[in-house]
Amino acid sequence: MADRVRRKIRILFAASEAVPFAKTGGLGDVAGSLPRALKAAGAKVAVIVPKYGTIPEQYTDKMKHVADFYVPLSWRNVYCGIEKFTYQGVDFYFVDNEAYFKRDALYGYFDDGERFAFFSKAICEAIEKVPELECDVLHCNDWQTALAPIFLREFYQGSDVCRNVRTVFTIHNVKFQGQFSDKVLQEVLGLDGIPAAAGQLRSDGQSINYMKGALLYSDTISTVSPTYARELQMPFYGEGLDGIFRDRSWCLHGILNGIDTDAWNPETDKTVKAPFSADDLSGKAQDKAALQEELGLRVDPERPLVVMVGRLTNQKGLGLVRYGMERIMSNGVQMAILGTGDADQEEAFRYFDGKYGDMLTARIAFDGALAHRMYAAGDMLLMPSEFEPCGLAQMIAMRYGTLPVVRETGGLADSVIPYNKYTGEGTGFAFTNMNADEMTNCLLDACEVFWNDQDAWQQLQRQAMAVDFSWKRAAGDYLAMYHDLHPEIVQR
Ligand code: ADP
Repeated sequence: MADRVRRKIRILFAASEAVPFAKTGGLGDVAGSLPRALKAAGAKVAVIVPKYGTIPEQYTDKMKHVADFYVPLSWRNVYCGIEKFTYQGVDFYFVDNEAYFKRDALYGYFDDGERFAFFSKAICEAIEKVPELECDVLHCNDWQTALAPIFLREFYQGSDVCRNVRTVFTIHNVKFQGQFSDKVLQEVLGLDGIPAAAGQLRSDGQSINYMKGALLYSDTISTVSPTYARELQMPFYGEGLDGIFRDRSWCLHGILNGIDTDAWNPETDKTVKAPFSADDLSGKAQDKAALQEELGLRVDPERPLVVMVGRLTNQKGLGLVRYGMERIMSNGVQMAILGTGDADQEEAFRYFDGKYGDMLTARIAFDGALAHRMYAAGDMLLMPSEFEPCGLAQMIAMRYGTLPVVRETGGLADSVIPYNKYTGEGTGFAFTNMNADEMTNCLLDACEVFWNDQDAWQQLQRQAMAVDFSWKRAAGDYLAMYHDLHPEIVQR
């Protein structure tokens, strides 16, 4: 083994989105808060993300130009600027190329395969060329950065700086794998001349699968909850990659995400009408009345207010909600839904909005401030996901004393303790099968407790609010994983 060195381990955290610069989902939250926790736990951390045209000016105005160079991408050489902005003590580096990233949205373009191949190659070039980005571990996340471990191994082993970089790849959602036509192998990636790379990137002989490549090339892989790490090894959840997850289960870690407990704090939240705490929940009642008023719902403390915040896609178990809706609504439950997503799902919830008048409101929008008010005001959060790698909404809800009603899958199973009416134990309610009646029964059981046993309900709220969902625990687990890859580095 190499000689021991006593210093901080250097982590470069690569992601396609990070709060507060760009966010479409949970990955943005993770990349916005895990690095800060890693730093607090004793690592030297930098984050690298694309410089999107949508990043607010308050940040872009303050970015400092650090370097520029050309990135080789098959037959092209593409301009890349590196800009830097330090946010809450963490150094964020932005990969600048206006042709690729100055657009209205983060994803969903015809050339996404090329845009994120560029991003992944730019990360490797930056490690080699920008001294402050030298690292011991490159931590990549989801398909948008999946090519970096592959490029690093195939093109950068001649570099003294890159040779000792170990790679971690984290799956935040296996549904999105980054699959593109076989043409990208030669035209964009320049890997067609390396049979081993081509073989590991091809998924069905037809298309190129970025995530599959990363799973085979990275030194270690992880995902965002222990249960999802087990589920990924099953055909139902593995989305065609379950065989690889089984083969590599020896280095597959499941580390439950945390949440940013400063940004999500009912005692200090500036976006809600009345802050509150576990000791004094009176503010929560005011927040509920204010939200009912704001959303045009009947202002009534006796109605259990069920909130849903999230992407309106099949993943989120919306089929169960749609099927169960008539029974739910006929029991006098109120619902408030906030989300955007698939056109047919949006349409269904707009229809419910019209049908149920002052008992249901669906806001088809992405609205961060309204999300805060909904988490604060709700009595329950409904999250009957088909699969859920980790899920943040249920943890945020618990922090605000809004009891989650979840299907026991992935991170939902790892973060919600189902109510036990005999012992009083629990932090929410849970059901097992993908069955609309089972979900509705579970939701109505929760309503029974709300209506008939307010003491038990408030005890559950206090238990949910007392759970520590901060990043501290996860950061310790990640740090241990990084050190396993570099046993010669001893934490200073
Ligand atoms: P996923 O990563 O699958 O989208 P998560 O529950 O892990 O789901 O994270 C979703 C995050 O995005 C949460 O912080 C949630 O509050 C937020 N979010 C999702 N949809 C919306 C929306 N329409 N408006 C505001 N925030 C949203």
